[in-house]
Amino acid sequence: MGRGYDVIIIGSGIIGLSSGYYLSKSGKKVLVLEKKDIGNGASGSCDDAILLQSKKPGIVLEMALESIDMYRGLSDELGTDLEFMSPGAMILIETEDDLRIMEDFVIEQKKCGLEVEIVGKKQVKKKQPHVSEGVIASTYSAIDAQVNPLRVMFAFANRGKELGMQIKKNAEVVSIDRNGSGDWTIGTANGERYVAETVINAAGPWAPFIGKMVGIEIPIKPKRGQIAVTEQVPPLGETNVWSADYIVSKLNPGKAKKREKVLEDLGVGFSFTRTADGNCFIGSTREYVGYNKNTTFEALQIMVSQAARFFPVMNNVSIIRSFAGLRPACQDGKPIIGEVATLPGFFIAAGHEGDGIALAPVTGKIINNLVLGRTNSLDIEELNFDRFQRKEGGVA
Ligand SMILES: Cc1cc2nc3c(=O)[nH]c(=O)nc-3n(C[C@H](O)[C@H](O)[C@H](O)COP(=O)(O)OP(=O)(O)OC[C@H]3O[C@@H](n4cnc5c(N)ncnc54)[C@H](O)[C@@H]3O)c2cc1C
Repeated sequence: MGRGYDVIIIGSGIIGLSSGYYLSKSGKKVLVLEKKDIGNGASGSCDDAILLQSKKPGIVLEMALESIDMYRGLSDELGTDLEFMSPGAMILIETEDDLRIMEDFVIEQKKCGLEVEIVGKKQVKKKQPHVSEGVIASTYSAIDAQVNPLRVMFAFANRGKELGMQIKKNAEVVSIDRNGSGDWTIGTANGERYVAETVINAAGPWAPFIGKMVGIEIPIKPKRGQIAVTEQVPPLGETNVWSADYIVSKLNPGKAKKREKVLEDLGVGFSFTRTADGNCFIGSTREYVGYNKNTTFEALQIMVSQAARFFPVMNNVSIIRSFAGLRPACQDGKPIIGEVATLPGFFIAAGHEGDGIALAPVTGKIINNLVLGRTNSLDIEELNFDRFQRKEGGVA
């Protein structure tokens, strides 16, 4: 069987479609294989934030800064309104201890080029007139943004198709073999076979199953996040908001005040964003429960109560639906992006955990450069899969 494609991408989430679009734009013949439909994975059941403030200084923040620049021009480039908006964001602080930790964090982020500051109670009230009295300060960054992930995926898919990209749905990849000429033969559950020089594993939380097909262990696990959606409401304040307590407990576990056990167990970190249509997303949990995408009363009650605690006016707002998605969480908290050294032509672009929407454009650009053998402006060495194999004893 001869080579039909230059590149086969496994998974039509936002990462696979972004990679497919940029490769098609570069003239590559691309096939995307999707086991169900566009939006089946995390990218179809997630929040909409391009939040730079939550990122630790380092490669992920550097990627996010480049990605947000790309998003600014992407609606025009793709010919679709992606509902990209930059209302800014605030991380609400309730205690003096959290304030001190967030002050240090902000200093580090500023050194990395992020425009962010701490604002006092008076300023918080000005930007968030409905916020509760319990909030003593906040971070504020004007550049934090948001986008509609579904629109981004379909825009990448549609523009990609115009450039020749093919997408096959209900095409679950079940086998990957290297043939005699060094190309990859990909088999699907419905018995089809496709051959390409390059394969990209963009299967999000399912990336480890694809890895097993080529004999590697990819340390990514599904991390569930639940979200409650409100009816359409007018804006409560100028920006989207998050709470500092979860961020602080992650950044500085030693110094952070002990949170309630249930909050720790469910990994609840309050987020509150308003979509272009006026529905608010109240999130979210971070749970290791395998591939279970159910929502739970326990988590939803906590999240909705937090919304009412920060914004008492939310007691008058209806919740109209809820959903859960599975973040592709990599063992060391960073995505895996690059070619696997022991498998020339086999790339991974997965493990973006809670940052995949924010990082989709830059990931597609990086994958495109890698496949074409071009240099990337960012030093992405630390994102390579080989970081796990380099550790003593192989893959952890
Ligand atoms: C509740 C929640 C809130 C979030 N909020 C944000 C946010 O505000 N900002 C942000 O940046 N990120 C956020 N994220 C994270 C973001 O959604 C993910 O990082 C991103 O969607 C991952 O995209 P992906 O393309 O890697 O994976 P996915 O979207 O999961 O796509 C993987 C695709 O691979 C397909 N697939 C799997 N196995 C096979 C196979 N064998 N053959 C063919 N196809 C296969 C799947 O069907 C799926 O379509 C959130 C996630 C959740 C769950």
